[in-house]
Amino acid sequence: MATLTAQMVKDYARKQGLDLVGIANIERFKDAPKRMHPASIFPGARSVIVVARRILRGNWRGIEEGTYWPNYTYFGYHGLLNSFFIPRGVYETACFVEDFGWEAVPYYPGPPEAQPPVGSVRPGAAAPDVHMAIRIVGVAGGLGEMGWSKVFLTKKFGPRVRLSAVITDAELEPDPLVEPGSLCNRCMACTKGCPSNAIPHIKEGKTVKIQIEGKTYEWGDVDMGRCTLSYHGGDPRVSPFIHKSFPGYEFDASKQSISEDMAYKLCWPFSQGKWRRTEEDHSGYIIEGHAKIKEWGGDGSYGIGGSRGCMRSCFNYLEKSGKIEQTFENGEFIKRPRWLLSHKTESK
Ligand code: SF4
Repeated sequence: MATLTAQMVKDYARKQGLDLVGIANIERFKDAPKRMHPASIFPGARSVIVVARRILRGNWRGIEEGTYWPNYTYFGYHGLLNSFFIPRGVYETACFVEDFGWEAVPYYPGPPEAQPPVGSVRPGAAAPDVHMAIRIVGVAGGLGEMGWSKVFLTKKFGPRVRLSAVITDAELEPDPLVEPGSLCNRCMACTKGCPSNAIPHIKEGKTVKIQIEGKTYEWGDVDMGRCTLSYHGGDPRVSPFIHKSFPGYEFDASKQSISEDMAYKLCWPFSQGKWRRTEEDHSGYIIEGHAKIKEWGGDGSYGIGGSRGCMRSCFNYLEKSGKIEQTFENGEFIKRPRWLLSHKTESK
């Protein structure tokens, strides 16, 4: 059988519409917990092919202006990007690898937090469901580094990417790692731009660190409860839809100290639940605007906060400072004084 090289995999994956492709050897995961290790999924794994597709800058235009939400969820998040544009390329790349006689596991980047506390199904195996931390896989494959905000940064697009991977027993030449600190210079624009105060300031000293091949990658220990509240529709400051559906309500996401899971438990029923049609609200939803974004966006998930600090403030800064390659004829992304609503909605 013909030899499969890293270059052949990369050329093929790019032809499938994937923007960035990197390769990690399995040794780079030696410090990964068993429940996140690629070899816990595929014990014979020798390489992980990590891929990224860009999120269009224009996916955020409507949210940045405060006028239009649906396309971010539909094109830039779960609707098509995570559920069609990327998986199609991942699947074709996995087929290509298997055509050379190597097994290829297409990976769906589910969240590591979703693992239920159940025991393993055979002695010595990791408990189900194993999930890799896809951003750390991105670092191991040389595609970029973790920004202070815990968002993955690339040289070409900054934070505007989503990631996925293929795990294989083909031995492929790994890519060089990106030098820590070469993209994120701790400017703190993400911290300043985050509406729920979820990203600590560097002065607070709250960090998470990992090591790969002697390089230390470190980022801010983000408060995921607050992040989830803002992102998934639990924060009145970033949701005109809460203001419409809940007059007289007050909730300050930046003052909460709850877990990510608790934040999901609050946000999802609040945003996606149905309620009887009343004289006060004929919609049949708890918050009609949030529920409709999920329905229009492919019914898998929905984005309300639109990553104001960790993505929009960050790529605005990285583009402006010439630290990333893709820039735009119209200059800076943030063109006007930015909007934020009150955490207290007006009474009727
Ligand atoms: S805005 Fe981006 S570059 Fe600046 S500290 Fe945050 S992650 Fe790093």
